[in-house]
Amino acid sequence: MFARDASGARMRVRAAGFPALKTLEDFDWSAQPSAERPLVLHLAQLAWIEEQANVCFFGPPGTGKTHLAVALGLKACERGYRVAFATAQEWVSWLEQAQDRNQLEAELRRLERYHLLIVDEVGYLPLERQVANLLCALVSRRYERGSIIVTSNRGFEQWGEILGDAMVAAALIDRLVHHATMITLKGKSYRLSERGLDVTPAAHAPSLRDSA
Ligand code: ADP
Ligand code: MG
Repeated sequence: MFARDASGARMRVRAAGFPALKTLEDFDWSAQPSAERPLVLHLAQLAWIEEQANVCFFGPPGTGKTHLAVALGLKACERGYRVAFATAQEWVSWLEQAQDRNQLEAELRRLERYHLLIVDEVGYLPLERQVANLLCALVSRRYERGSIIVTSNRGFEQWGEILGDAMVAAALIDRLVHHATMITLKGKSYRLSERGLDVTPAAHAPSLRDSA
């Protein structure tokens, strides 16, 4: 790689705002068979970014959603794409600030310069209805113009609740999934299993049979 390309990639990685630099090489596939390694490696080729398509990672906390989203984002930076990472909360508060300054339209237009936006953690906190509309505006604006990776611990059937409005959720999901790859991660939290804590709390509770 030319030094110039390498420094460009470094700048794009810094600009992207990843919470930590996680790579596909760091990912333990045997710990997470539901990650569908061949499919993720195919996504790492990034043809979907050329097609302005999306990727959604679902699954319980700690199953590697953010890790894989960041890993694909890093690949995109290396390949010359502009990427921006933030949580759903951060995205909507960013857009809310723009709206307060009467700059929402300008901000949505500015975000079109990014090839890939990563919206992490949809559903960890419910969004206010007004604010959920901003997330919908973002997804609508990007539809067939740029790619999004979304991660969520809740299935689409629960997004109406998260977004406080079933219609808004339906419109958002419709645009998001029209050209999207969906991957659902299963199993226990890698964070807990790394620390030997991957036992359900109930396993510690004395059962009736034990006390009898
Ligand atoms: P989620 O976003 O699904 O809550 P994360 O991607 O943040 O989970 O994963 C939690 C932590 O465990 C992170 O430090 C991540 O790098 C690590 N991790 C999760 N799954 C794996 C895996 N299969 N191999 C290696 N590290 C993993
Ligand atoms: Mg996460």
